[in-house]
Amino acid sequence: MSDTAETRYDAVVVGAGLSGLYMLHRLRESGFSARVFEAGTDVGGTWYWNRYPGARCDIESMEYSYSFDEALQQEWEWTERFAGQPEILRYIEHVADRFDLRRDITFETRVLKAAFDEAACHWRIETDAGETVEAKALVMATGCLSSANLPEFEGRDSFLGETYHTGRWPHDHVDFGGKRVGIIGTGSSAIQAIPIIAAESEHLTVFQRTPNYSVPARNGPLDPDYVREVKAEYPEFRVHNRLMPAGFGSKGLGRNDVSALADGPAVREARFAERWEHGGFGFLGAYNDLLFNRDANETAADFVRERIRDTVKDPEVAERLCPDNVIGCKRICLDTRYFETYNRPNVELLAAGTHPIERITSAGVMVNVMNPETGEQEGSREISLDCIVFATGFDAMTGAVLSVDISGRGGRTLPDAWSAGPRTYLGLGTAGFPNLFMITGPGSPSVLTNMVVAIEQHVDWIGDCLEYLRREKLATIEATPEAQDAWVEHVNSVADKTLMPTCNSWYLGRNIPGKPQVFMPLIGFPPYAEKCAEVAANGYEGFVLR
Ligand code: FAD
Ligand code: NAP
Repeated sequence: MSDTAETRYDAVVVGAGLSGLYMLHRLRESGFSARVFEAGTDVGGTWYWNRYPGARCDIESMEYSYSFDEALQQEWEWTERFAGQPEILRYIEHVADRFDLRRDITFETRVLKAAFDEAACHWRIETDAGETVEAKALVMATGCLSSANLPEFEGRDSFLGETYHTGRWPHDHVDFGGKRVGIIGTGSSAIQAIPIIAAESEHLTVFQRTPNYSVPARNGPLDPDYVREVKAEYPEFRVHNRLMPAGFGSKGLGRNDVSALADGPAVREARFAERWEHGGFGFLGAYNDLLFNRDANETAADFVRERIRDTVKDPEVAERLCPDNVIGCKRICLDTRYFETYNRPNVELLAAGTHPIERITSAGVMVNVMNPETGEQEGSREISLDCIVFATGFDAMTGAVLSVDISGRGGRTLPDAWSAGPRTYLGLGTAGFPNLFMITGPGSPSVLTNMVVAIEQHVDWIGDCLEYLRREKLATIEATPEAQDAWVEHVNSVADKTLMPTCNSWYLGRNIPGKPQVFMPLIGFPPYAEKCAEVAANGYEGFVLR
């Protein structure tokens, strides 16, 4: 252990994505010493790792960007309604340059361990480079969707061709030309990648476990008049977005504040069609009860299924693509010609109902062939492939935090404290782990929002809190078990009033075998932000300050 000033900081931040970068900037602005560790070779987080073809934002670019600096938001020029990964990465690199952030970031270095030293009241943090540093505060800016999920298919490592995971995409161009490609998964990442890989490759086989709802993005060049209009009042626009339920859309179509069941079929169809044509997430704002009432939800689900049937020429393929669960209980996908891709002669859809994956072989993927009438297995079929793309998602919200060996008071480990699922107060702190902060942690609105809005709100709250501790000469802040219990109950009770916990989503951890199943994010950004501000104004009620 070293005790030199160079290895002792006011705060250590883990991760250099949008969260870690703004946290570093804010800490510096407040006069704190800080060091950031990042496993990747450069900044960007999500937008550094997810370089798969078609990777793109599903929040409009004028909204998915930092608001903390007026000059920054005025000078940056977005080119498309929904920015692509390369453009978002260029933006994040620009921010790192503009605020000279890289000098306090250590790249290609993974934080492996963090232990709270109760006598010294600080965290001792160890990296895979063999370095140990100390910090009063430890900020986990490790990302909610950064721990790639590579399922344990039998024979996975025997495949002799190329393999890729969308969330760990190589930096060099992947050439699918003339190749037979298989893609496993039909979530947001796959739905973006499939049309492009289909166009590039000789043949594409899509292995679908659960069909997904997707709405056209209707992406295109940004209208210069719209950009001028937003920039003329950017601060007010940001304020309005923070008052929206998910932190975006204040200039969109808005939420139509009536029940889907109040309109007759023709009016309803017209309302859904208007939003379908407009593109983007506004589709679910067509009525106010789509995520609360099953019958209302079914009207929206029916509308999307009809669009799939209109689009996909082979009726059997169309049926395989039609989801039958609640629309919106998994994150709805935005696409560009996804369903149209199944009309291509070089694309085959193998759905788990009739062709579940049995194992991966040295030459491709072996599927069972099931009789659709009886459900009995009729045989097996090996799909020969040159490349397999795993679009199988992430160990979301807790994966990255729990992969660091964190121990708090009395040496209690975080996996032990969270053995029945994550337990936090406000998604910012957890009882027994003083001065440990999470950005967009479980129990906060996080992944249910425009995440840049959620990130900025958390960073500002943490920055204010650290300033308060310094001003009041306090050594530690720690959530009380009582406040945490009440908070966990609150998060669950809000979710239980909706249809959101009804499917096998990653919000519930159901995509990861053995993961405790609890609904992790909190629905509703504005009341949450208000609560956080109130807690701070009341001297950090629900926390113990020592
Ligand atoms: P991340 O960007 O995930 O950054 C975390 C960083 O921490 C990573 O670089 C990682 O390498 C590093 N790290 C983790 N553990 C360690 C460790 N132990 N040691 C060192 N470094 C570590 N959100 C939206 O709001 N709108 C969107 O349209 C949208 N699209 C998305 C598309 C994709 C493909 C994905 C995967 C996510 C998307 N998201 C979107 C969510 C996105 O993750 C957030 O918007 C945001 O980028 C998160 O920033 P972050 O800094 O919190 O986390
Ligand atoms: P995902 O939504 O979790 O999708 C993973 C896919 O892999 C699902 O179709 C899943 O099937 C399948 N899968 C997982 N394990 C499997 C197994 N063992 N066997 C067969 N199939 C398996 O992951 P993602 O597509 O990477 O997206 C994750 C999140 O990142 C999104 O929800 C979104 O928040 C964000 N994202 C956003 C965008 C965007 O548009 N901006 C793009 C990409 C990602 P099941 O459905 O049956 O589990």
